This record gives sequence, C-alpha cells and structure tokens, in this order.
Amino acid sequence: MAEPLAHGADAFAHEPELRQAILELRAECARAKRIAVMIGAGASAEVGVPTFRGAGGLWNGLRAEDLATPAAFARDPLRVSTWYAERRAKLAAIDPGPAHFALAALERAVTARGGRFLLISQNVDGLHRRAGVSSYVDLHGTLLLDRCTRCAREHAVDFGSPRELPPRCAACGALERPAVVWFGEALSPLDWERAASAASASELFLAVGTSAVVEPAASLARLAVAHGARFFELNLEDTLNSANAQRTLRAPAGAVLPLLV
Ligand SMILES: [Zn+2]
Repeated sequence: MAEPLAHGADAFAHEPELRQAILELRAECARAKRIAVMIGAGASAEVGVPTFRGAGGLWNGLRAEDLATPAAFARDPLRVSTWYAERRAKLAAIDPGPAHFALAALERAVTARGGRFLLISQNVDGLHRRAGVSSYVDLHGTLLLDRCTRCAREHAVDFGSPRELPPRCAACGALERPAVVWFGEALSPLDWERAASAASASELFLAVGTSAVVEPAASLARLAVAHGARFFELNLEDTLNSANAQRTLRAPAGAVLPLLV
C-alpha cells in the first residue's frame, strides 16, 4: 500500500498519522463514484492570492467588508472598481497551484470511471477553472466576469489590460460590477441547489482550505455527513467542521492533493 505513495511517504514519514490519513483519503478517491469537493481561500493563499481576512487584509485602510458591498458600490463605484482592478491585476500574475491541478486530475479520474464530481468553490479567483476543472459551482461568484447592473449582461474581463473605471456596459451604458456575491447579498439559488444536491448525493465529501466560518457554505459538510458521506477535511487548522470529519489532515493542500490521484 505504501509503495505508490513513496514520493509522498518521504515528505510525511515523520507524521505517521497524517500519512495514514492520506492513504485512506486516496483509497476513498479511487473508490467513490460521487465526489464533492469544497474549496476555500486556503488553497488560493498557497499560491499567493490575498485572502482579505485577518491582519494585512486592508486596502487603503479599508477592509473587504467596507468595499465588497452593494452600499459601498452605490456610494463610490470608482473606489470599489479600482479595488477590483488591482485585485485582478495581481491575479493576472498568479497561476493555479498543485492543489488546483490535482483537483482537475481527480475530476478526470472520477468521470473516466463513470462517476460524478463537483467542485464547490468559495473562491472568486477562477484558478480552478484555469487548472482545467470543468464541473464547478462558484458559490461566491467569479472575478472572471463583469455584470451590468441594469441589463445583467455578463462578459469576460481581461485581467491584464487596463480600462476606464468604473466600467460601463457596452450594450446599455449602465455601471458594471464584478459577478461576485457581495457581503449582504444572497447566493444564487441555482448554484446553491447544485452544491447542496452534490453534497447530499456524495459518497466522499472533501473540504479543502476552508475555515468553515462562512455560512451557508459551511453547512454543506454537515449536509453531506447527514446523508451518509465520508467527510475528510484538509486544512492547516481546526475548523468548526473538524468534529464532523472522519479524518482531518493538517497540511497544505498543494502538498497532499497531488498524492491522491
Ligand atoms: Zn447593460
């Protein structure tokens, strides 16, 4: 059993419990026909995406909670769109990491054996899309698109090229906003339904790099467990969901996920 993990065994030889948990999780990944993975800011932080939570998350003295709201945008659309333009410019220089590519490989493996896979992302950076994951729900929306505040037309944004701010809709001239879910806004009911049914139907539910403090996303793990899924948590620290997990793996996603497929 240890042989195929030889490469990883070296890395985790001094942590036998973690090593054992990786082997168990890998066996689940090889066996389960329905796998749902919830991914959070931790996976993106590993490749350098700022998380805007905790210390150091300020922009010009403002917290994300002061900028990513409908009220902030209504008050000062230029300031809010400037903040997003800077975030997107930073993202243009960041590539998906080993964790993202490993999830894409896991998806290919599951679908190749006739199973179903869904990535439930709490991240807006689109790195999982760029790594090649094709079945995903962006619960909190995506920075890859802008949406017109009047006609709801959406279009892809080129992170690398500057444009006039605040951006305006080419079709109707109204202000455009990023297609993300702001503080105080509801998740898309359609996206939530997809995520909840994948969690309920999953045999294996894996939470990666998510602190589980944001509801209702955090309740997906409980939903999966209530419907009989085996739940594994891969995160650097304990979370509110840890007590529900069959196994908790305290390690970077980018070090563990590539060992699973
Ligand atoms: Zn429009």
